[in-house]
Amino acid sequence: MNLVRDVRSRLGWKLFLSYLIVILVGVLVLSSAAALSIPTSFDRHLAGMQPMMGPRGAGRDLSTGFRAAANESLALAATAATLAAVVLSLLISRRVVEPIRQMLAASRRVAEGHYDERVNVRGSTAPEEMDELDQLAVSFNQMAARLDRTEALRRELIGDVSHELRTPLSSIQASIEGLLDGVLSPDEPRLLQIHQEAGRLQRLVADLQELSRVEAGAIEVNLRPHSVEGLIRNAATRLERQYSDKAVRLEFELAPSLPMVSADEDRVGQVLLNLMGNALHYTPAGGAVRVHARRRGGEVEIEVQDEGIGIAGEHLPHLFDRFYRVDRSRSRPGGGSGIGLTIARHLVEAQGGRIRAESPGPGRGSTFAFTLPVAA
Ligand code: ADP
Repeated sequence: MNLVRDVRSRLGWKLFLSYLIVILVGVLVLSSAAALSIPTSFDRHLAGMQPMMGPRGAGRDLSTGFRAAANESLALAATAATLAAVVLSLLISRRVVEPIRQMLAASRRVAEGHYDERVNVRGSTAPEEMDELDQLAVSFNQMAARLDRTEALRRELIGDVSHELRTPLSSIQASIEGLLDGVLSPDEPRLLQIHQEAGRLQRLVADLQELSRVEAGAIEVNLRPHSVEGLIRNAATRLERQYSDKAVRLEFELAPSLPMVSADEDRVGQVLLNLMGNALHYTPAGGAVRVHARRRGGEVEIEVQDEGIGIAGEHLPHLFDRFYRVDRSRSRPGGGSGIGLTIARHLVEAQGGRIRAESPGPGRGSTFAFTLPVAA
């Protein structure tokens, strides 16, 4: 019973048994064919040699002796071949099954949460020379690496989110405790500060929701032909008041006869509000922000250029990473938490464009530019 269960549940046994059946059938066919054909063929040759053989009885004795010798040798050869084949098929089955066993053990460890588990790729790593087992091992390793990365991102995200929530929450809690203990007076500035911190939390939660949507690729973009000027003017109208309150000029330099772009009006609006909002935020009063638009091949590039605090070169490659802020210690009551540009990147890419940041250095302004495909 146990043996039957073993055979059923072990690939190695199944492989070995199938080899064994092939070997036995081979030996059976070989012996039967030999046993049938050798006597007839020998008798035929013997008949040809009859004149040299003398009396008939001597030929018959020779034939009987030969059949016995042939049968003996056949039996011996068949046993030797079967033994050699059995040993060889045991070795081959082991060799085939071993990597599968390793993968099974590794997949169990991955299922237990050990995402750093990898299996050995035995043969060559050149794709054209790999057999199916090597390809399976490579795919397994890719899957494990991906799970590992996702898990690291998840842990990082939880850490970042808790960190971002902690500051406004502690500040609100400290103020309320002060008010309850009577150490602080419930005057307007105090209540305003609590209100601002609560607003910051609300914005953060909204940004996080949007971030999780865009990172999961769960945003719908409704691509239609739009005029670039219309898209830019829309965003500018919404920020007009804030620009004039801070006395920052908003200037436009749009190339003549720009083609229509294929875009989602609301999503482009979100990107422009983020870029033009940041430009305003980091530009001192009296400065200017310029919005340029020009055609570049099959795309239109929209550029938001400011005269603000600028960005040092080492930060530029990270600006679009989530929660990345150049000055993490700077308090930003009115600002976000380093999510805006990450969302902007996803939104631009979802519309088939690219986004980039440039700056000649601190104190020398920054330029953020993104592209949108020309409408067909
Ligand atoms: P935040 O909401 O913190 O502004 P963003 O993702 O929009 O988040 O921006 C990320 C960081 O990039 C900012 O914290 C800031 O350090 C830097 N940054 C963005 N825009 C500008 C700009 N126009 N000038 C200088 N620094 C900028």
